[in-house]
Amino acid sequence: MTIDRTFEDESAGGSSTPAENMSPILISNEVIDQAKLSRPHKATKRSIRLVNCTGDKLRKLTIPVGKRFQADIPKWNKALAYDYNLESSKWLGEKIWPIGSGNINTNIEMIGKGRPESSCSCDFPGSIECIKSHIHEERLRLLSEVGDAFYSWGCDKMGEAVSESWTLKEQNNFNKLFGTRTLSYEGFWRRAVKCLPMKQRESIVSFYFNVFVLRNVSRQARLPSPVIDSDDDNK
Ligand SMILES: [Zn+2]
Repeated sequence: MTIDRTFEDESAGGSSTPAENMSPILISNEVIDQAKLSRPHKATKRSIRLVNCTGDKLRKLTIPVGKRFQADIPKWNKALAYDYNLESSKWLGEKIWPIGSGNINTNIEMIGKGRPESSCSCDFPGSIECIKSHIHEERLRLLSEVGDAFYSWGCDKMGEAVSESWTLKEQNNFNKLFGTRTLSYEGFWRRAVKCLPMKQRESIVSFYFNVFVLRNVSRQARLPSPVIDSDDDNK
């Protein structure tokens, strides 16, 4: 049995530049263009399916088949699945919420639709401050509804709230560091950890995704002709 898989054409060869090593989310168009100019023409990445079509190259990944390579999955038994006394039930985890036979009043109609326009009485509806205050209200409401589950689910480590454990100076340092980035993806995070000695790498990555990227997108979305580039900071 063989399957197709996507791969980068190795025949293109050549050493990669730091810009090529960076994550797409960390790289601006400007850096990409410079990287393109500074290296010879490189073959476009193509999936093996396309390569096979054109007959340029044939390369397949072999998946071994046989007793030694297959998982033994027992037949699904609906009746047993609901028996929580089973030894296997220990893998099902622990119920966190609702506690006991708590009632869940969820308005499924509202899920994914956002806040109705009419519900806002802010001075500047849709402004950054308006959105911030509504997110804050909803967080408090969620906390009061689900209690400790709020923390078990990691809701306290999501969104703008992540910045609460960062001083203004630390935030500015991160912004400056990102604005002058010329390093590879790995190099950038290594330097960030060095420049922010009070922060763990996990905390810095969390700040980047939960705060830095969202602030940029939020600001850019409000420009007269918005062009969303999550990295486009300090320009
Ligand atoms: Zn509002």
